[in-house]
Amino acid sequence: MTATTQKPLPSYQWHHLSIREVAGHLDSNLEAGLTSAEVAKRRERFGANELVGKPGKSPIVRFLLQFNQPLLYILLVAGTIKAILGEWVNAWVIWGVTLINAIVGFVQESKAESAIAALASSVQTEATVIRDGQKVRIPSSEIVPGDLVLLTSGDKVPADLRLIEIRNLQVNESALTGESVAVEKNLQPLDADAPLAERTNMAYAGSFVTFGQGKGIVVAIAQETETGRISQLMEQQTLLKTPLTRKFDKFSRVLLYIILAVAALTFAVGLGYGYSWVEMFEAAVALAVSAIPEGLPAVVTITLAIGVSRMARRHAIIRKLPAVETLGSATVICSDKTGTLTENQMTVQAIYAGGQRYRVSGEGYAPKGAIFLDEAPVNLDESPVLGECLIAGLLCNDSCLEFKDGRWNVVGDPTEGALIVVANKAGCIRDELEQKMPRLDVIPFESEFQYMATLHENGEASTKSKIIYVKGSVEVILSRSTQKLDAQGNLTPLDPNIIYQEADAMAAQGLRVLAFAKKLVSNEQNSLDHEDIEEGLIFIGLQGMIDPPRQEAIRAVAACKTAGIQVKMITGDHAVTARAIAARMGLEKHGEVLAFTGQELSRMDNQALANAIEEGVVFARVAPEQKLRLVEALQSKGEVVAMTGDGVNDAPALKQADIGIAMGKAGTEVAKEAADAILTDDNFASIEAAVEEGRTVYRNLLKAIAFILPVNGGESMTILISVLLARDLPILALQVLWLNMVNSIAMTVPLAFEPKSEQIMQQTPRSPKEPLLSRSLLKRILAISVFNWILIFGVFEWIEATTGNIALARTMAIQALVSGRIFYLLSISQLGTTIFNRIRGRNERITDAWAIIIGIVGAIMLQVIFSQWNLMNELFSTAPLNLDRWLICLLLGLPMILVAAWVNRFDPLD
Ligand code: ADP
Ligand code: MG
Repeated sequence: MTATTQKPLPSYQWHHLSIREVAGHLDSNLEAGLTSAEVAKRRERFGANELVGKPGKSPIVRFLLQFNQPLLYILLVAGTIKAILGEWVNAWVIWGVTLINAIVGFVQESKAESAIAALASSVQTEATVIRDGQKVRIPSSEIVPGDLVLLTSGDKVPADLRLIEIRNLQVNESALTGESVAVEKNLQPLDADAPLAERTNMAYAGSFVTFGQGKGIVVAIAQETETGRISQLMEQQTLLKTPLTRKFDKFSRVLLYIILAVAALTFAVGLGYGYSWVEMFEAAVALAVSAIPEGLPAVVTITLAIGVSRMARRHAIIRKLPAVETLGSATVICSDKTGTLTENQMTVQAIYAGGQRYRVSGEGYAPKGAIFLDEAPVNLDESPVLGECLIAGLLCNDSCLEFKDGRWNVVGDPTEGALIVVANKAGCIRDELEQKMPRLDVIPFESEFQYMATLHENGEASTKSKIIYVKGSVEVILSRSTQKLDAQGNLTPLDPNIIYQEADAMAAQGLRVLAFAKKLVSNEQNSLDHEDIEEGLIFIGLQGMIDPPRQEAIRAVAACKTAGIQVKMITGDHAVTARAIAARMGLEKHGEVLAFTGQELSRMDNQALANAIEEGVVFARVAPEQKLRLVEALQSKGEVVAMTGDGVNDAPALKQADIGIAMGKAGTEVAKEAADAILTDDNFASIEAAVEEGRTVYRNLLKAIAFILPVNGGESMTILISVLLARDLPILALQVLWLNMVNSIAMTVPLAFEPKSEQIMQQTPRSPKEPLLSRSLLKRILAISVFNWILIFGVFEWIEATTGNIALARTMAIQALVSGRIFYLLSISQLGTTIFNRIRGRNERITDAWAIIIGIVGAIMLQVIFSQWNLMNELFSTAPLNLDRWLICLLLGLPMILVAAWVNRFDPLD
């Protein structure tokens, strides 16, 4: 769809027109919607329903921002002073290096940003529309003007709509109007000059349905919507900032001040010794340049970006980059039960109706199997109440079955799918029933109410009444029922306790229990409201369905336990059912599965709640609003909380949680918007995988720090000490630049690709308060720095003394340093561990080591160019080495193996 084919609609005051006029202008059918042919035409004409994002900062600005780093200021100034001094080669090399650095940073950042942005937007927004008289679900981008869109709570309004039907519809328009309270909608035409916030018969793109249902006709799409017009779409924020990168920023600022102070001191001391100020300027610049880890920012960005793409491969899509880090330090995961810990593959196994217990055979959604009473197949004619129970399940139902690719699937809610299957097993067919008893109205299921109800024409002509079927949780149904059907189908008084016992017996086996009831109402009634079913229901029966735990989730729960992460189940389901499943999944804490219900929690004060939440593992019949309290209570105990959610009302909890995780398949748009991460397969195992990757990211960053800083340490010590001892500088500013930028980046970037280690899920979670540079890491850095200093200083002094060739001495000092560096890299990478284990006779396979190998080979090649190519000799004041000297440098690096082995003992990085 190109921009040239897009023609906007003439603009009408849609809110001012009657529904019929709106439909007329848009040439749409209010019942059947558009035809496919018409949709295709309108797609041609109007284009896709997509907002073209306001571009972020222009590439030029972003490129220039690359120079906005302390180090680069120093370099630019140094280059300029060199130029003033007439040292043009030096000046150009310094400028060249800063330029290359900026280019590398720019390319890297753009790549990482676009990769992350692409992932985040790969989660498509969907909408339900009526086309050709059929309800279909399509990507929101395919909506055209005139489409009929169905809205239900949790949906994101996909385009600007004039509402034509509503049921308690409430829409949150804060994105558009700033008003955070949801607006109640209605259908009346309004004054032409009604302001946007008061156009109650419209629903605008980008707002969220928080309650009720509605139907609307699309009056504007894409750039033509109100949102599109005010170009409200957020400017692409800097996607790459996380708490960790902020720590880095702070760290480098502090470092800068220290360096400037020390450099100034060096300068002063040197002048005092009688050096020329030009010489001292060289030393001060070399010191400044040597102390700053130039390669680090690039490595951080790459590591984070790689973490994000690894998580995506394992079904966790990161929407907000900080989540990558936070995931790694999660201490508690609060997970939904249905669909996340369990398969959401429901099969009815037990029915209780008319005082009888029935058993159902068959598995999955295939309508194969039968219903048994005392091991004999039942005949519905002899069990009228069983029949009613099945019919209630079939009619009070918004889902359907579909046979596709050789298997039966549910379109809609698996709970409802199971009810259809069991009814089919007994020979009840929905179409036939619906013909006799057409549906007049419906209250769809919402977790908040725990029931669903439908109003039907009563099939038996003799009775002058209509019938309501209700299904829902046992408590809700029983609390509204006073009578029940006995075995013959006659009305008798209800003793709820007997039913509760039956329900508990089912729940104790891990079955999800639904209760069914009906109510006869006058023939005049044509619509259904919550009040209609507040009381006077007639209890029909119970159906218990199994929802097996996901096998991979059981393994993931165990993995979390070894990793010191608690897993808690939060569910709207019954406590007994939830406990049974939790026990099967190994969720117990201190050997027991402590369960609390939402009701119990609501009676607790904050202190009691915090304790209950710390000890409990199952939280059942939890209302979505309570999830927020749960998260806060856990956080008050110092936990880092990951929380899953899918519904509209889960959004506050998802935002409050340290990591909010929305379900990609079952989740509403509201939940997805609020979340930090989205699971594309809704599977608990993917959370565990994401935690694993999050930990790996952090570990790889630590490795990068542990690798880069000792070189800076060694270099600065060298320069400082040599100046203080009044010796020749063993290493020049430009050579430092080469080491810190070219060599460091070549050798450190591969650390970002390090695979996860076996131990990673055997450690306890890292505290988010832990400083970046822990005590042991500092010790490590210091130890390796000292060794590096010995190498540079020692080699330089030795070669200078024996040959008198200062360029050669400097070159060999650098090559020895790089040689030591290669061994050090091996000591902290898994490749090194594997090689070491193989030497010890263990037959480990070398896997995923390509990055490190490429890094090492690349670094060696660059070093050869650095000293053997005469252009480089001129630029960097190096000298070519003969083979013997190369070998000497290589050997001099070898003792690093011992130093590194010692350091790894007190600071294991894996
Ligand atoms: P969860 O998803 O955590 O298992 P829900 O909020 O979906 O919990 O369900 C809570 C309770 O509501 C269930 O235990 C069941 O009794 C009832 N319920 C679930 N789905 C439906 C439905 N489609 N229609 C009627 N009642 C339902
Ligand atoms: Mg559910």
